Amino acid sequence: MEKNLSQTSVMWFRRDLRITDNVALAEAIKYSDKVLLIFILDPQQVNKRSTVNQSAFFASVKQLKDDLIHKDIHLQILQGDLISVFSKIKQLLPNWHNLYFNNDENGYGRLRDQKVAKYCREVLGVSSHSFVDYNLHGATEIKKDNGESYKMFTPYFKKWLQLPKKAPIQIQFDDIRQKNMSLSLTNYDGQLNQLINEHHKYAVIDQVGEASANKLLKAFIQNKISYYEEKRDNPMFDGTSHLSRYLRTGEISIRTIYEAVRQAPDGDGRLTFIKELCWRDYYNMIYANYPDQQTHALRSEFQNIVWKNNAVDFKKWQTGQTGFPLIDAAMRQLNTTGWMHNRLRMIVASFLTKDLLIDWRWGEAYFRDMLVDYDPASNIGGWQWAASTGTDSVPYFRVFNPTLQSKKFDPKGQFIAKFVPELARIKGQKIHEPNLLTLVEQKEYGVKLALTYPSPIVNHKLARTRAIAVYEESKDVF
Ligand code: FAD
Repeated sequence: MEKNLSQTSVMWFRRDLRITDNVALAEAIKYSDKVLLIFILDPQQVNKRSTVNQSAFFASVKQLKDDLIHKDIHLQILQGDLISVFSKIKQLLPNWHNLYFNNDENGYGRLRDQKVAKYCREVLGVSSHSFVDYNLHGATEIKKDNGESYKMFTPYFKKWLQLPKKAPIQIQFDDIRQKNMSLSLTNYDGQLNQLINEHHKYAVIDQVGEASANKLLKAFIQNKISYYEEKRDNPMFDGTSHLSRYLRTGEISIRTIYEAVRQAPDGDGRLTFIKELCWRDYYNMIYANYPDQQTHALRSEFQNIVWKNNAVDFKKWQTGQTGFPLIDAAMRQLNTTGWMHNRLRMIVASFLTKDLLIDWRWGEAYFRDMLVDYDPASNIGGWQWAASTGTDSVPYFRVFNPTLQSKKFDPKGQFIAKFVPELARIKGQKIHEPNLLTLVEQKEYGVKLALTYPSPIVNHKLARTRAIAVYEESKDVF
């Protein structure tokens, strides 16, 4: 669409908290002579419970604001019902005609954007210009030859891989500075600060911002990508990128990451890593196509599972007190860092849903609160995968054995020792099964079973049989 260069525009930041390689921002700067940069504290999205997820997100917003101040660029922090905020801007800025933002393709964001775009067009006479930026390929871009959407990952990935990817976009700071404007609206910087809970400092504050994200990407390419294929499943080796928290806030662009990986020296790690980026696009597409999947199992045959939902067991899982050392180490990693290794997310999710027969929605909600990289599409997708309720998920009769997984992916028990220090002195394989320690060994290693460390809260073998039966009952009712 032709845009009038003499117009004033608004650039609305949401999950794209960066200046570099930002599609909507680049377009706004290109087609406007004045641009107001805004972030809105939307009451619909502010959680009164002050979660780690929320503190992490708003710490990133604050960092963007601070980074821009240093560059002499103003980001206006606004607050309130979106319709009122945009009406107010129009009142103060009658010659405002274009609103720019990067698409949210699913969940609340999608409905919010539709509502705002409609109101701006019909009431304010403002055109909205939105772009695919959060993903390499948007939710509607990749279809089967017959026009249908994909349900299974592998054929989606094959098609995804063949398609050209957009290159990173260059934006000049000087252009932004020259065109940047401010409005005399109430500033909500203080409210923004209050949303960053100091208690979550461990997971949040000191690592935010575009510069941190770019540094991490560089370090990953230099030091880890060549081992990614081989080591990514070992939580102690820590061979993954940790870029998820920055992708989630948009402090780094997915195009920048893709391009850096493409240019990295050859090696098995590159394709494996790129495949993970495709999972992110895949889950975004699935969520866009199945908007009720946060509350509904995607597989109809598993909508009638009779969950046990024992609140005491759930608490033990949350706090890392199940008596299964790797499960406990993983949950404590989440509780103390705001992040959990991917392999461990799969194991703890399988344990919760299959061994404890607790509804995957409970686990999804806990992760939602606790993860600094919380992304609705990937989190719901990951949980439905582990619970065998997703479109392309682990078969229902596959129940991860937490002890075997522990021996396989943390063979020396180093990760367990790090996060479950009460087991750190155990030598040999019994670190994976402390319930097998003899009294003499307990004394030697300073462990008192059921006192300093819990006995297993379930018998995995029996729990596995029970889970399969419950899933099969749900299939029978269907
Ligand atoms: P890397 O291995 O370095 O991967 C690079 C990037 O690829 C990640 O940053 C992420 O953007 C993407 N990616 C990797 N694996 C997946 C995957 N399985 N699904 C989707 N994208 C992937 N990821 C989130 O970003 N937010 C979530 O809320 C989230 N919840 C999850 C819940 C469960 C139950 C499971 C099993 C997985 C979940 N994941 C989630 C996916 C995955 O665990 C994380 O993306 C990954 O651990 C992030 O660490 P990393 O950046 O070091 O990953």
